[in-house]
Order: sequence, then C-alpha cells, then structure tokens
Amino acid sequence: MPVSQGIRAGKPELADVATANFLRSIIERDLRAGVYAGRRWGGSPGDAAHHVAGGPDPARVRLRFPPEPNGHLHIGHAKSIGLNFGLAREFGGVCHLRMDDTNPEKEDQGYVDAIVEMVRWLGWDWRAFGSEHLYHASDYFDFMFRAAEALIVEGLAYVDEHSAADMQAMRGDFGSIGVASVWRDRPAADSLARFHDMRDGVHADGAMVLRARTDLASSNLQMRDPVLYRIRHAAHHRSGTRWCVYPAYIYAHPIEDALENITHSFATLEFVEHGEFYDWLLGHLVRLGMVQSPPPRQYEFGRLNLSHVITSKRRLKALVDEGLVSGWDDPRMPTLSGLRRRGYTPAALRRFVEGTGASRHAIWLPDSTLEQALRSDLEDTAPRAMGVVEPLLLELTNWADEFGDADRVACTAPVHPQRAELGQRHFALGPRLWIDRTDFTEVPPPGFHRLFPGNRVRLKYGLVVECTGFCKDAHGQPASVQARIVPDTRSGTPGAERVKVKGTITWLAQHDAVPATMRLYARLFTAEQPDADGDDFRRHLDLGSLREARGFVEASLAGIACGQPVQLERLGYFVSDPRDHRAGAMVLNRSTTLRDAARLR
Ligand code: ATP
Ligand code: MG
Repeated sequence: MPVSQGIRAGKPELADVATANFLRSIIERDLRAGVYAGRRWGGSPGDAAHHVAGGPDPARVRLRFPPEPNGHLHIGHAKSIGLNFGLAREFGGVCHLRMDDTNPEKEDQGYVDAIVEMVRWLGWDWRAFGSEHLYHASDYFDFMFRAAEALIVEGLAYVDEHSAADMQAMRGDFGSIGVASVWRDRPAADSLARFHDMRDGVHADGAMVLRARTDLASSNLQMRDPVLYRIRHAAHHRSGTRWCVYPAYIYAHPIEDALENITHSFATLEFVEHGEFYDWLLGHLVRLGMVQSPPPRQYEFGRLNLSHVITSKRRLKALVDEGLVSGWDDPRMPTLSGLRRRGYTPAALRRFVEGTGASRHAIWLPDSTLEQALRSDLEDTAPRAMGVVEPLLLELTNWADEFGDADRVACTAPVHPQRAELGQRHFALGPRLWIDRTDFTEVPPPGFHRLFPGNRVRLKYGLVVECTGFCKDAHGQPASVQARIVPDTRSGTPGAERVKVKGTITWLAQHDAVPATMRLYARLFTAEQPDADGDDFRRHLDLGSLREARGFVEASLAGIACGQPVQLERLGYFVSDPRDHRAGAMVLNRSTTLRDAARLR
C-alpha cells in the first residue's frame, strides 16, 4: 500500500490515529468471564504437572514480548513492547521478556544483552510477584522434544524424508490441495526411531524433518502438515552443541506460551495463518495432560510502520554489515539504540507508541510523528542555550563608543522561557561574535529579515545592530560581517524596544563560545517506502544524511551531562553523543529540529 493512502491528509498528529485498542477489549472480556481464573503457577515456566503443584496464579494476565535475539530492537518492537508491558501493568498482570532463541545460526548473546538493556531503558520491568520473568525459549527444548515424541505416538506427527523443494511442491496452493507424502502413514514406531536418529546426529542437515499430521486439504496452507523440527548441525549460543534438531517457529511458539502460562499471545498480522495450528497443537497437548488448561490464545494486530523507515531486522543488519551506517546505534537508524543515541527519550517513545493504539490493520505513519513526539516531550523540560552551526564572524565596529574599555558586558536569559523556577543563564556580549552563516546574506531574498548590508536586527538577549558591510574570502564567500551597535537598545533596559526590527538572531561572543562538533541528520532513506521493492532499499539511501559541522555553543553547556537534552534556540534539540562524550571535546547530535519545515541540511 502506498504510504500516502495510509496516512491521513493534512497535518498528521498522533491524536488523529485511532487509539482504540481492541486487544484491551479481549482481555476485559476474558477477565469478566474468568477464563484463566483457575490457573495455577508453579513459580517458573513448566508443564502441566509443574504448574498444578503450585498455587493459584497471582497474575491476572500473563503477556509476553518475544524477540528473536538476532538483531537490535527497532521502533516497531517498541510498539509491541508498549502494548504487552502496558496492558499487563494495566490489568494487574505481568509481561514476560522472552528470548525466542530457537534458531541457532543467527542468534547471539550480544543481541540478548542489547535487547534486555533497551527494554529496561524504555522503562519496563519483568519482575513481579517475587520473581524475574526473563525467559529463554531454548530452555524449553527438552519439553518440546518430549511433546513431539508424544505427537508421533499419537499418530499426529511423522518423519518425512522428502527434500524441502519436494515438500513445498506437494503442499499445493490456494487452487489445489496437498499431496500426501509416502512417509505420512509410516508406523509411529518407525517415525519415533528416525526422530531419535535425527536428534542423535545420525543424519545430515535437510535429510528429513518432523511434520505434523494435520489436514492436507485445509484452505489454510499452514495446516497442511507443517514442519515441526529440522536438523541443524549448529552450535546454539546457550545450549551449545547439545542439540542438532531445532523446532520451527509454528511449533515452538505455542509451547513457549503454554509453559509460561501466557494468557493472551499478541502476534503481528503475518501470523494469522498460524493461529489455527496454535490451537490444534495446544488442544492436543492439553488433552495429553502435558500443558495446563485452558491454553493461551493468539490474537493478531497490525504492525507499526513509519514512512522513510525500514523496520526489518534483516535489512537493518545488512546496513550494519555492509558498513552503510556506523553500527546498530547509528543515530540515523530506527533501532532503539540508535534513537537513544540520537537523543530520543524513553518517555517520548512510550508516548509515541501509546498514541498509536492497536488495530487489526497495519498502521502507516509519517516519520514526522515520531519527531513530534520527541518535541512534545522536550519542549517543557529541555534547558535552552544558544549555538552556532556554521560560524561567521560579526564585528561590532563602534563597541568602544558604547562600552569604553570594557571588553564584555553581561547578558542573561531564562534557562526555560516558561519555567522561571529553573533560573537564569549568564553569558556576555563582546565586540567579536559568532553568528550563523545562514543569518547573513549579501542580497536578501524577499522576506529575509536577518542581516544584510543596511539592515538592523536584534542580537537575542543583547542589543540591536545595523549591518555596515562585510568582507569576502578568496572564494567570494563572506569572511566577516561588520555592524554598528544602535544605542540604547540593550535587552532588558528601559526603552530598548523603541527601535523596531523585524529579525532576531542568535549569537555567541567569541571569548566564551565553546567549540562543538555538531552532527546533523537527515533521513537515511529518500523514499517513502524504502523496502517496497525488496532488497533494493540500498538504492534509496541518502549518503549525505549525516553532516558534521564545527560550531560553537554557549558556555553554560560546557559541563553538560551525557544524555541531557538541550534546546539550542532556533536550531533544534541536541544531546551529547554518548559515544564521544568526554571533557574538553563536545560532540552533539541533533535529535530533531524545532519544526518539521526547518529540516536544515
Ligand atoms: P523483524 O522483521 O524486524 O525481524 P520480527 O517480527 O521478526 O521483526 P521479532 O524479534 O520476532 O522480530 O519480534 C518480536 C516481537 O515484536 C514480535 O511479537 C513481533 O510481532 C513484534 N514486532 C516486530 N516488528 C513490529 C512492528 N513493526 N510493529 C509491531 N510489532 C512488531
Ligand atoms: Mg521474527
């Protein structure tokens, strides 16, 4: 779907997006009906016997956020996190953080650690009712194997020795029913022996698989004898080489949910077809007394997508691996680690995802809504300061006439314009100043009210100056600007406002400006849907999306704490880059401009 169809016309605001949350209604319905009221909890995940031996489950609902540790979390995951942790808290339950680590090749401990760190950073917690609820699907491999043996014995699963391509062809499609494998009706004892051989490393990868014996005529292709187990001679980051068979997602996920006593399993829409198998599998495991009743149910909601943004771990990983960005935490990345480094706050991200609710359709939002959420958070809290991105020298030629021998005069400004309690900041005006190059022009276009020869502007918190001339460098670019002070215009003195000017510019005195490297970001991708054509997303990369400027900031920022957002007046919100934060060398990331239109490049 083109983004423009999914995005409402006009100024997109978060409040415009339906915040109705149908998942909440489902939980309310089940709580009213007491569906899960009789469950017991054995103190940790486990099978039916384990839970039945425990007391009543103290959690009214158990939800889970189940990332696969094969990459860093991104803004789409923040949505799922907010939904699951938020609803669990709202209903007096708990949300488990579960590593869905059933795929040995792509996963590793570094990703596990990064995931844990980011969910915590967002402000969520998986401690509840006296224990931690951080789990790993790989801890359930024994049970999964046991359950598979039980299905085989029941005639509900069989070992198939066809190649993957043959199985794919025999599965049929929407127009034709599936063709039965010659192995489908082999004796259970035969399948069981092969399954054990698979586990014991007798066979090579791909030699055979374990399949469910479900319904080859089903209109749901996922019900046509899905693959449950594959041979993979690969080391797993937690279980090592203990296993060389690994469960498929469709089989593993319902079991993970059931062992953890999950009540509602919220999945994104691409798993709709898995729902039927989910119920089939858990129905049988309940019947066999292996998992507690009633089992969890899966419900699907629409993914969150942003324009100009890729939210696919695989593609984000490609950007990292191919060196197209500086790492997972490159501030242009939509990863949570990238957004944090860019200066996003947990509160802004939580507010953003809360505002998007949950719907049965995929949500497309303009990327500007994310920036707007950050501005809304920082507007009331960030201290203000002045900064200059591209310094141009401004000389006040009649300084001595106004101020005699003094080489500086004190100025003050509020730390925050609406919050007097935060106090004042102090800096000084001097005869030589830095202004931003974009605030001067030789020949003003219509509507330009800042500095040009003959024009007057107010130096914010300072005084009014009139431009008298400028010098060019060897390339014909302005090298310095000269101006004279207009008498009796000092900010805060009586009559200062008598001289009317149309423009106000920000500035820094050379003597107390602190040098700062400023990293200014544009969108990483130029296209609204960069991955609409599959892996061609690289074509839409903007290689100039990071610009580094050598600017200056107000001295009040000299000792700024890492992670403390500031508003540089007129320029945007900035934060000290945590990777480069050290005394004496300031490196600032621009988190966002102050307005959307002001996307300065
Ligand atoms: P990716 O395609 O980026 O790898 P994924 O869904 O495969 O995403 P998982 O680690 O399996 O990644 O996802 C963990 C949870 O986050 C899942 O429940 C998934 O549905 C959810 N999720 C992932 N992306 C989004 C999104 N864009 N919007 C909402 N939920 C998401
Ligand atoms: Mg996935």
